[in-house]
Amino acid sequence: MSLKTSFICESAIAICAAIDSHEAEIESLDRAIGDGDHYINMKRSSEVIASMVNELKPLPPDEALNKIGMKLLSTIGGASGPLFASFFMSMAKVVKHNGANNPLEIAAAFAAGVQGIMQRGKAELGEKTMLDVLIPASTTFTISAAAGKSITEICQAVKAAADEGLENTRNLVATKGRAAGLGERAIGHLDAGAKSCQVMIHASCNLLLKS
Ligand code: ADP
Ligand code: MG
Repeated sequence: MSLKTSFICESAIAICAAIDSHEAEIESLDRAIGDGDHYINMKRSSEVIASMVNELKPLPPDEALNKIGMKLLSTIGGASGPLFASFFMSMAKVVKHNGANNPLEIAAAFAAGVQGIMQRGKAELGEKTMLDVLIPASTTFTISAAAGKSITEICQAVKAAADEGLENTRNLVATKGRAAGLGERAIGHLDAGAKSCQVMIHASCNLLLKS
């Protein structure tokens, strides 16, 4: 199994639909402990990427990922635009240099993308951000791929890790992003960026489970 540009494109379209169908939840989470624009940022990001599918299709996967990152950087504001741009550009670098020709290599590229977000946002696990979903999902991806699990098993484990990571944000105090100013008042709310990452991970895994 290797990472193909056709999968990146199908995934972009599936993510677009998934973000759309979670509008109310994503919107209300950022309204509760942020400034309420996260759904709009995610909708614009996913629509911009889905609209690039025809120009992405002929490219090798690393170039497609890099192009997505550069587009997000130039078009999407908020904290999340540049963070997701870093994800795609960091992932592209590893795909280019190390390849993405088996689940373990794809997991390594995904991990590099998550590292890119950590460096850009200077954040770690437990700060009530999207990383609380992305880090456990990435770790689970790497561990299951290294254990030689099937694609189905990997996808199920990664989705479960994303769900657990999202739920864990509920009782955290935010130390990064806009919610950081709220102190204990952020407790009891899920993080909006964590929710959209969980939605995107489910959409991509479900696509793989169907194929
Ligand atoms: P903004 O915070 O500028 O309004 P968004 O609403 O689009 O941008 O995104 C907010 C989300 O971004 C948060 O819910 C959180 O998950 C994520 N986030 C914010 N700051 C950071 C950071 N430094 N590192 C990682 N993720 C972050
Ligand atoms: Mg916001």
